[in-house]
Amino acid sequence: MIDMINEKIAMVGTPCQILAGSKINYYEKETGGSSIDLKIGLFCMENFSYTYLKMFLQEKNIQLNDVKEFRIENNKFKVFSNDDVYEFPISQTNSFKRKNCDICTDYTSNLADISVGSVGSSKRYSTVIIRTQKAKKIMDDLIKSGAVLKKDIDQKGLSLLERVSNKKITTNLGNIEKRENNAHPVLYKRKTPDNEIEELANDCQFDCLNADVIKEGACVLCGACEFVCPIDIIQINERKPIKKGKCQDDCHACYYACPRTFTTNKLLPQNIDSKAVGNYLDIYSLKSNNFTGQDGGIVTEILLHLLDKDITDNVFIVGEDENNPWKPLPKLTNDRDEVIKAKGTKYSTVPIGFKALKKEKIKY
Ligand SMILES: Cc1cc2nc3c(=O)[nH]c(=O)nc-3n(C[C@H](O)[C@H](O)[C@H](O)COP(=O)(O)OP(=O)(O)OC[C@H]3O[C@@H](n4cnc5c(N)ncnc54)[C@H](O)[C@@H]3O)c2cc1C
Ligand code: SF4
Ligand code: SF4
Ligand code: SF4
Repeated sequence: MIDMINEKIAMVGTPCQILAGSKINYYEKETGGSSIDLKIGLFCMENFSYTYLKMFLQEKNIQLNDVKEFRIENNKFKVFSNDDVYEFPISQTNSFKRKNCDICTDYTSNLADISVGSVGSSKRYSTVIIRTQKAKKIMDDLIKSGAVLKKDIDQKGLSLLERVSNKKITTNLGNIEKRENNAHPVLYKRKTPDNEIEELANDCQFDCLNADVIKEGACVLCGACEFVCPIDIIQINERKPIKKGKCQDDCHACYYACPRTFTTNKLLPQNIDSKAVGNYLDIYSLKSNNFTGQDGGIVTEILLHLLDKDITDNVFIVGEDENNPWKPLPKLTNDRDEVIKAKGTKYSTVPIGFKALKKEKIKY
């Protein structure tokens, strides 16, 4: 069993990372669970490989050191550097896009407590979707505090958000069908009853994870497998998880935690793709009164509010590696300055800092 930090944690992540966090907690008996208490999901159409993004920019003579911001807007990938703005058709990002994103149908982080993105709102505002009562209370208090400015989302914005999300769902369901027809399973979308999942997963260790997910090009590089391994034999490099050692008898933790293995319909109901933005209690536009972030600076405001009001003890952030500009660096922190410094989107994949939740590594 993993010895866990016994504190309340909020995580921020892409929909696949939110699914990983949800599976770790849902399959607590097998994975050891986690102290993640609140999930803030980002909207996400696709993500990139840092190495290949860097190569693409080098070919275009753009230095990462000079880049101030990346933005995807109106089907363009925009790079704002110190002296220019470069625009590329979104199709050119295929050369550095992660292929696992082609089989992902969650655009708005359906399993998060709060989802945040830009689509649907006006410039420098964030679209915020409230999905749980707990999130509603937190957000009502944040709005009351005066730190953020609220606007209703208009019908045009909501329709655009639904259209964009539906496009991702339809396109990627088509990709899933093609993969399955070519004998490349996409397990997380298979409709398998809970008892069958258990039977299958209880036969599986890392070698199955490797065959069913990693070799199939479905790994989202979330880091959940590395985190739940009780004997720390999984390491994740830039591309994929690797096992360094012999599995512990009767352990299936990595297989249960992975967001791309079988997933119970209690988490991913059969009709999940019929609702463009998932189930929600409220949706509106917000912007911070204190600073700009990638969009409205709202993720940063929520994280600061959680820490200031002692709602969570620590938060996961994805900051930037000081030695490698724009390379994402996950961190667990309760330091306000670090949270503010981490604002802005780093458009490449990184294992979220799940492993920081382990208090100490236990060897068997
Ligand atoms: C890979 C990716 C793709 C996205 N695609 C879309 C999209 O298609 N449409 C859309 O509307 N929005 C998309 N977003 C969300 C959008 O870019 C903003 O993150 C969101 O609108 C919140 O803005 P903000 O100003 O409120 O956040 P900020 O206050 O700027 O805070 C941003 C937070 O995001 C976290 N973060 C930064 N990079 C990463 C990363 N690589 N992985 C995980 N967390 C990270 C940081 O920890 C930070 O706390 C995407 C985000 C990511 C990471
Ligand atoms: S698999 Fe790709 S598209 Fe889907 S949520 Fe993860 S990063 Fe985004
Ligand atoms: S011991 Fe093996 S099966 Fe268990 S989590 Fe680690 S790698 Fe996976
Ligand atoms: S194999 Fe590991 S890193 Fe890849 S998606 Fe599954 S849990 Fe995440």
